[in-house]
Amino acid sequence: MFADVVLPLPLAYSFTYAVPAEMQNKIGVGFRVIVPFGKSKHYTAIVLKLHKNAPQGVESKEIHSLIDSHPVVIEQQLQLWEWISFYYLSPMGDVYKAALPTGMKPTDLEDKYTSKIEKRLCLHPDFQPESALTIIGKAKKQHELFEETIEILSRKESISRKELLEITGYSPAVLNGLIGKNVLLEYSEEISRIEKQLEATHKPVDLSEHQQEAFEEINRSFEEKNICLLHGVTSSGKTEIYIHLIAEQLRKGKQTLYLVPEIALTTQLTSRLQAVFGDKLGIYHSKINDNERTEIWQKMLSDSPYEIVIGVRSSLFLPFRQLGLIVVDEEHEASYKQQEPAPRYHARDTAIMLAHICGAKTLLGSATPSIESFYNAKIGKYGLVTLTNRFKDIELPKITFENTKELYRKRKMKSLLAPDLIEKINLALEADEQVILFRNRRGFAPMLECKNCGWTPKCRRCDVSLTYHKFSNTLKCHYCNSTYKVVHDCPACEEESVKQIGMGTEKLEEEVTQLFPDFRVARMDTDTTRVKNSYQKIISDFQNKKVQILIGTQMLSKGLDFDNVSLVGIISADGLLNHPDFRSHERGFQLMMQAAGRAGRKNKQGEVVVQTADPEQPVYRYLQANDYESYFHSQLAERKLFNYPPYKRLISIVFKHKDERKAELGADFFARLLKQSLGEMVLGPNKPIISRIQRYHIRDILLKLDTNLSSQKVREFLKSVESRFREKADFRYMILYYDVDGV
Ligand code: ADP
Ligand code: ZN
Ligand code: ZN
Repeated sequence: MFADVVLPLPLAYSFTYAVPAEMQNKIGVGFRVIVPFGKSKHYTAIVLKLHKNAPQGVESKEIHSLIDSHPVVIEQQLQLWEWISFYYLSPMGDVYKAALPTGMKPTDLEDKYTSKIEKRLCLHPDFQPESALTIIGKAKKQHELFEETIEILSRKESISRKELLEITGYSPAVLNGLIGKNVLLEYSEEISRIEKQLEATHKPVDLSEHQQEAFEEINRSFEEKNICLLHGVTSSGKTEIYIHLIAEQLRKGKQTLYLVPEIALTTQLTSRLQAVFGDKLGIYHSKINDNERTEIWQKMLSDSPYEIVIGVRSSLFLPFRQLGLIVVDEEHEASYKQQEPAPRYHARDTAIMLAHICGAKTLLGSATPSIESFYNAKIGKYGLVTLTNRFKDIELPKITFENTKELYRKRKMKSLLAPDLIEKINLALEADEQVILFRNRRGFAPMLECKNCGWTPKCRRCDVSLTYHKFSNTLKCHYCNSTYKVVHDCPACEEESVKQIGMGTEKLEEEVTQLFPDFRVARMDTDTTRVKNSYQKIISDFQNKKVQILIGTQMLSKGLDFDNVSLVGIISADGLLNHPDFRSHERGFQLMMQAAGRAGRKNKQGEVVVQTADPEQPVYRYLQANDYESYFHSQLAERKLFNYPPYKRLISIVFKHKDERKAELGADFFARLLKQSLGEMVLGPNKPIISRIQRYHIRDILLKLDTNLSSQKVREFLKSVESRFREKADFRYMILYYDVDGV
């Protein structure tokens, strides 16, 4: 018997090993095995297939040992892995690596997962309470501790050592005395790392009339279609509708996966779900450690799996046996796309595939749907349900514009904030309301520039402009994290004229603190939230009104729900729109809509002030009118004109080499082969704007493929070109990867 297995390496699809005779009736698909590889290595592999076909021409090695007595990867998961590997053009080994927690993939025969051991205490079985006095003798503190412990142990059989010491406050020495005299027995127990969830405390709220209608429409749509888009303005109660849909799945004995773009940003959401679903809810995100992930995986395989999982994109890889529904919240978010490393999958689209494999439904939700999803809804591929009213019919915020170009010209801009915005902030603060100021760039002054010749300091390894960080007085590369000293003398023209340009959240914070000295100001961006829980603290300080003005980057625009914010300021909105990327307008519009959505959610209409040098841009009209639909049509027209999705499918092919000439030659060669069949659909090779990262030179090719081409054929063709490319000695070890449906 032979087994095809996948190894955790970026290699071909699978490898074949012989199954030793004594293993043959114990092994199965989805089991982990340890196999020898290369000269001296061993890896944990997963069995994909068992068969009797001996591989031709090579002697296959034997499986070293079998780890499991039941599959740890179930059939549907393997199907999903295969689809990801095929569609995103990544080796199966990379998919396996991304899917399984590290603790479940021991290499070189050492077990990575370690169980957590707790020391516990109970009364010693030989101990006779009547003889306590004589046994403990004169030790006064031991008597006292004994009294307290007996009292505790009258209510439960055992207690953890740590807890007992904490409750009673005695020293370990006193406790060890009682253990030494065989009064108490100390033993070790394996415990779970998964944080104990609280019991549910709330019922789902009653839906409003509009919400109830939307809820029913979604269910009706699911009778005909597997995918539904819920387009509901900010604060319309989408989350409450999700909760009702999840409750319905529970009643049917089905599981729900609730996908969110970044879990750190959703503490508020997690507590809302916990209140309703209690310990039925599992949380799976990037900050939990690997042993915990392993335990969650094992729990999902057990007889009592989580019925609801809220998680980031990697939670798509968990084993769900009874999946009924996947909710993709904020479906437009670019962070759903994995960038580095492979597999570069899109979690929204992969969710749709997983649901398809499991016979489940997918609900996409957003106040600002992606162009692709809205298009799919418009052409009838997805169901579409719309919620146009906020909960309690609070009006959407009023949006006004400040023309900063005019204001600068008239010398009225004395700071980063327009005078009218300052006035409005004052009014809000006087009325005991809170303010959010939104600035989409971090750092004090992101860049230094020579005022004389325009030179800017760049990273030596990456060819990227460095960012100035005032707090540490250093220059940093945001691509490779290298740090550089600040320069004042320009190396290009030798003048001492290198100065800060631009402005980020740090500078804004400094100014706002000076402008409003009687109020507390906090800042939230990737710099202030690096430490674990710092994010939660900023949020809760703001929620508890300890802070009146919150300044932040796009982090702030995501799904937060504050009830006392009446004013949102978007400082220099133009920066959001001016990127050389076909999605920058979409992104900018979404960010501004979402940021605006933070104003006036519960009690009254809020106000949004947008500062821009060019208020005539059409995107601002759509924003002001809250007119997603017109904005969508304008974007769609541009996408059609310039051959972008949803009219074409994009695949980019990236080449990296330390030798720039080789990177260039390789990309040229590849492009020539592609053009023979795909002609004008092949663009490039290009030298990207950031053309060197960590010493590697980069070139890329962009394919804009007709949507009627078969994805199977396209992928087979790419693979055949790749093998011709690899035959050339110069290109054999070049880094080459694909990015399918890039965002
Ligand atoms: P969205 O997800 O669309 O932004 P939310 O579900 O967060 O909207 O709702 C906004 C606020 O209104 C939340 O604080 C939520 O608890 C409250 N809310 C929404 N619908 C109801 C309802 N039917 N009953 C009570 N409160 C509601
Ligand atoms: Zn760098
Ligand atoms: Zn200079």
